[in-house]
Amino acid sequence: PARPIFSEQLPVGLQKISSIVAVSSCKGGVGKSTVAVNLAYSLAGMGARVGIFDADVYGPSLPTMVSPENRLLEMNPEKGTIIPTEYLGVKLVSFGFAGQGRAIMRGPMVSGVINQLLTTAEWGELDYLVVDMPPGTGDIQLTLCQVVPLTAAVIVTTPQKLAFIDVAKGVRMFSKLKVPCVAVVENMCHFDADGKRYYPFGRGSGSQVVEQFGIPHLFDLPIRPTLSASGDSGMPEVVANPQGEVAKTFQNLGICV
Ligand code: ADP
Repeated sequence: PARPIFSEQLPVGLQKISSIVAVSSCKGGVGKSTVAVNLAYSLAGMGARVGIFDADVYGPSLPTMVSPENRLLEMNPEKGTIIPTEYLGVKLVSFGFAGQGRAIMRGPMVSGVINQLLTTAEWGELDYLVVDMPPGTGDIQLTLCQVVPLTAAVIVTTPQKLAFIDVAKGVRMFSKLKVPCVAVVENMCHFDADGKRYYPFGRGSGSQVVEQFGIPHLFDLPIRPTLSASGDSGMPEVVANPQGEVAKTFQNLGICV
């Protein structure tokens, strides 16, 4: 879904972005950043102008997952704006590129830093800004959703039952904010070994979410050593292996957002 661009009610930095997509999870470690980064590079691979905003100030993943040449964000002192760094044509902003390490901050401070980074960045004209949300559904996430006019949300989860309860929380948060949840990504759902397929976390909770909440799309991502290796090497899987099964999944996800 896209909204009319150049809307004047938006913070200046966001005015020329047509779709802002949140990638969200209710727990850490389920693969949210992996999905955000690969979704962004998949969209860019289809010809879109894309940015990634890593909103996880406590544990920013973007500096590990992509390797821009210039690892620091520059300031434009006259305009007081931040110039995103760039890798393979995708604009990147993360607290991890701000020249400070992991921060110890209280919630309101975190929200302030996130909002400042996001709204003062010179994103320019973008078709998509992918926002890698901080995990959870607390105040930081709510504040972020109120500042940023999200056009769609993608929820990432693993297949356990417990994860289902968490996903439900996420869906409720976005529906209260009138942001459509367009897809659930069930990550680490299976792996193949010795000619067999294994489902280490069980099956079925993704389809339960989709049915119960009327979310139009469900995508499965397998456990793949290449996915974690590409996350560590700074080269997203969809770029490293553009013809692979994972790249195809992200192309289909890209079409939904
Ligand atoms: P989150 O953003 O939810 O904290 P990450 O995307 O950082 O999660 O993923 C956590 C770790 O799991 C990372 O090391 C990542 O490379 C790895 N990982 C995520 N998804 C997969 C997968 N499908 N197969 C293999 N490794 C994965």
